Amino acid sequence: MPKLLEPEQRVLATLNQDGSRRWLRPRVSKGRFLTARRVVAYLLIAIFTAIPYITINSKPAILLDIPAREFTFFGFTFLPTDTLLLALFMLTVFVGIFLITALFGRVWCGWACPQTVYMEFLYRPIERLLEGAPGKKQTVKRASGVRKFVKYALFLAASMFLAHIFLAYFVGIERLSTWVTQSPLEHPTSFIVMVAVTALMLFDFGFLREQVCLVACPYGRFQSVMLDRNSLIVTYDNKRGEPRGKISKRRKKSGDVGLPVVSEADARGDCIDCKMCVTTCPTGIDIRDGLQMECIGCAQCIDACDAVMEKVGKPRGLIRYSSQAAVESGRWRMVRPRVVLYPAVLAVLVSAFVLTLSQKSTADVTLLRGLGRPFMVLDDGRVSNQLRVKVTNRSKETQAYTLSTPLLESAELLVTDEERLTVAPGETQTIDALVLVPAELFADGSVSVSVQVDAGGETIATKKYRLVGPDPDRLRPEDEGEPQR
Ligand code: SF4
Ligand code: SF4
Repeated sequence: MPKLLEPEQRVLATLNQDGSRRWLRPRVSKGRFLTARRVVAYLLIAIFTAIPYITINSKPAILLDIPAREFTFFGFTFLPTDTLLLALFMLTVFVGIFLITALFGRVWCGWACPQTVYMEFLYRPIERLLEGAPGKKQTVKRASGVRKFVKYALFLAASMFLAHIFLAYFVGIERLSTWVTQSPLEHPTSFIVMVAVTALMLFDFGFLREQVCLVACPYGRFQSVMLDRNSLIVTYDNKRGEPRGKISKRRKKSGDVGLPVVSEADARGDCIDCKMCVTTCPTGIDIRDGLQMECIGCAQCIDACDAVMEKVGKPRGLIRYSSQAAVESGRWRMVRPRVVLYPAVLAVLVSAFVLTLSQKSTADVTLLRGLGRPFMVLDDGRVSNQLRVKVTNRSKETQAYTLSTPLLESAELLVTDEERLTVAPGETQTIDALVLVPAELFADGSVSVSVQVDAGGETIATKKYRLVGPDPDRLRPEDEGEPQR
């Protein structure tokens, strides 16, 4: 078999020269950022676990009921009729993400993304517990036998736990608790979904890992357009660090015994090329190569380098949170077009959302044309139109609705199924009705009526509806009683 050409340098941080996967086992670098991230991560895990148990206004804090197409966020439920509100909400979230990224770079990825939080603060600690931490004192190189079994058993337990909490966001904690206590045979579909989600979690955190950030996450791929030269990122101070060079084994003969000395100290930069920032990186990159799409902004390399700088007696911050512009020219511009534009768009979106929300009545009413014949001419000379009134009760109590056509006295509105006029909270009913109007009103083959929906003595909605009928000039006596089109 012919020998393949070898690449001149590493193409991807997670690929070996022969194209096989390079498994990363990042070293733990203790420091202020790791401590802070740990606190944030465990707080977020606690919040994520607690949210399904929290209720606001007798509703779950977050419930994404996909089959019912109802999405509840902190006491407010978006119904299928809330397309505009939902669109405004989603746009607000997206523009908010753009703004945060423009200001603080990938702070979400490094500090709050569930992929990072669970990988670095749940699955990797389990792995390190059983395989030993990478580094000088690593005790076990690769888990085997019992250790491997225990590792994957713990991974499975963690994945099952996460899958249950995750599904609670979609089905609610009560239904989930019922399922957990019942036999899977009583709810086979839900059980299969649970198994599938658990398997996905296990595959993600046990096998895919950093590949999710590198190749699957759309947010990571959009970084280049969302960041600018003044965005806050984890960056290496090239001017200060270069030319990099190994530390000399020699020690100063006098004065500062114990401190290692950099050979040709005056000529060299502060980077001693120890590669501690590389071996600690969860995506395997070298931050000294500049801003890279793979950098998730986790600040592990800052902690690693700060510790090295302290050891060699140099100031911390060779790798630090800064911006490309600040590192290159020493100047950082906070105010720039996108930082002004995004908040302006956000203000418009939030205002539109609040305004739309404040104008929401206690019911959503939609008028639909009846199925079948558009109209019928009755024996008494009146024309009947079928009408379907779809009412969604958004209030917290059961409501009894009444329908009328107040602006057209000669019109009569008949409800065919009176029971449907009573609607439970959050429920939707489609009420079938007939509107009867004298035929002579159909000047051009149609006439407009206002359909009013009332409940509890208040008018909930008034909607215009166009009735269709025969053209009186063309209505022959023999047509009466026959359906017309
Ligand atoms: S940890 Fe700091 S000193 Fe060591 S290689 Fe990285 S940048 Fe250079
Ligand atoms: S380069 Fe530094 S901040 Fe970026 S992912 Fe690697 S360790 Fe984290």
